[in-house]
Amino acid sequence: MSIDFTLTAEQRKLQQAARDFARSVLADVPAAIRFVPTPQDRLLATKPMYEQLVAEGWLRKILPAPVGGESNGMVDAALVAEEFYAVDADVSLTAFAVVLGLLPVLHGGSPAQVQAAVAPFLTGTGAPLAAFCHSEPGGIANFAEPAPAEGVRTTAVLDGDEWVINGTKQWISNATGWDGTGVDLTTVVCRTAQDPATAPENAFSVIVVPKQESGIVLEEAFDTLGHRGHLTPRFRFDNVRVPRENVVGEVGGGKALVEASFASPAALVGAFGVGLARAAFDAALTFARTEKRAGSVPIIEHQAVGYALADAKTSIEAARYLNWKACHALDNQLPSALELAVQAKIFGSETAVRVITDLMRVVGIDSYNHDLPLARLLQDAVVLPLFDGGNMGVRRRQLHDLLKSPGYNSMSTVES
Ligand SMILES: Cc1cc2nc3c(=O)[nH]c(=O)nc-3n(C[C@H](O)[C@H](O)[C@H](O)COP(=O)(O)OP(=O)(O)OC[C@H]3O[C@@H](n4cnc5c(N)ncnc54)[C@H](O)[C@@H]3O)c2cc1C
Repeated sequence: MSIDFTLTAEQRKLQQAARDFARSVLADVPAAIRFVPTPQDRLLATKPMYEQLVAEGWLRKILPAPVGGESNGMVDAALVAEEFYAVDADVSLTAFAVVLGLLPVLHGGSPAQVQAAVAPFLTGTGAPLAAFCHSEPGGIANFAEPAPAEGVRTTAVLDGDEWVINGTKQWISNATGWDGTGVDLTTVVCRTAQDPATAPENAFSVIVVPKQESGIVLEEAFDTLGHRGHLTPRFRFDNVRVPRENVVGEVGGGKALVEASFASPAALVGAFGVGLARAAFDAALTFARTEKRAGSVPIIEHQAVGYALADAKTSIEAARYLNWKACHALDNQLPSALELAVQAKIFGSETAVRVITDLMRVVGIDSYNHDLPLARLLQDAVVLPLFDGGNMGVRRRQLHDLLKSPGYNSMSTVES
């Protein structure tokens, strides 16, 4: 590529359509959930907006074109993610978590598995949900450590032609669905090797679990700091039986599938951060240009305020272009794609938290309640460094491993 960050006409159209949809539909989410006391009821309060998202084709627009969706790749997905997150994090994450739920199948499934998995999400009707069930109580950062580390504890045991799944998962986006009993499709990371000494490379598998009549038991819908209209429950698989052929790829090949499935979402989290920080910037800029705070000039005339806004805008621009670069590398399967995606996740997520906090200092005390959006934006941003593989326990370790690898070329990010 030559260096040119100009979006194509189609991308500008997609960006504008995402902005219009967010402003006309997703903008209703914060008010709809604000005084709803329980996580499950807050999720339900977002259902009309999610149904509209589905009806207006946005699940199709964020699913890849080769499997029947309309997305031409990660740059397109990042454009939509930024526009959506600038307005609402809750329904946006519910929708992007559907893609996450399908990713193991898209990466490792047979053509028949892919077609069956994706079909309900392409129809443009109802409120279909999917979930990727990886995290477990007690932590998941070391999921691929060999024994005596525990690693993945949820088990799947073959009984005749069926897998029998038992175990507890938590923090799983969407997983227990609108009514607490599960969703249309979950991909579940399970230990399938009986011998605890089996090497992690062969010890676990990803298994597709369609909607169950019973056996998905909701234990707690977490009442979280941010993303308050998005569901992240703890729940158990209680002797859930699925056909043997529901395993994705090779039995025992789950580690590689999990790692592949978490590469592109890293870049998307970077875009979430850009969206949140950008919304905070717009709110703070408007405030600074219009508010005199009992003085004689708008506060933007004070140099300290102007410089803080300048720093915030610079950080947001840097995060956005690192993210686009990572998305371009992912789309073109460049050798540097993983490094850039992880950097985009770490930088975009931590920039969002820092920038929003800085902008709250610019606005001052009025940023601290919910009349302005800054408090909500900070609440939603705080999780970005923590989820999708925490920046300490997972993402920096990925970079550390790359830096330690014998063939590492520090210039591959610009030379490939
Ligand atoms: C809104 C939301 C949505 C989510 N959606 C999903 C989902 O759809 N599916 C899913 O599976 N999960 C989901 N999660 C869960 C979440 O993504 C993961 O559980 C989390 O990213 C695990 O990262 P962690 O590093 O905190 O891991 P933990 O295992 O909990 O580690 C905790 C801490 O221990 C330290 N640590 C542990 N091991 C090491 C090490 N080897 N080296 C250095 N430090 C270490 C780090 O400081 C780390 O932060 C979601 C969470 C939230 C809040």
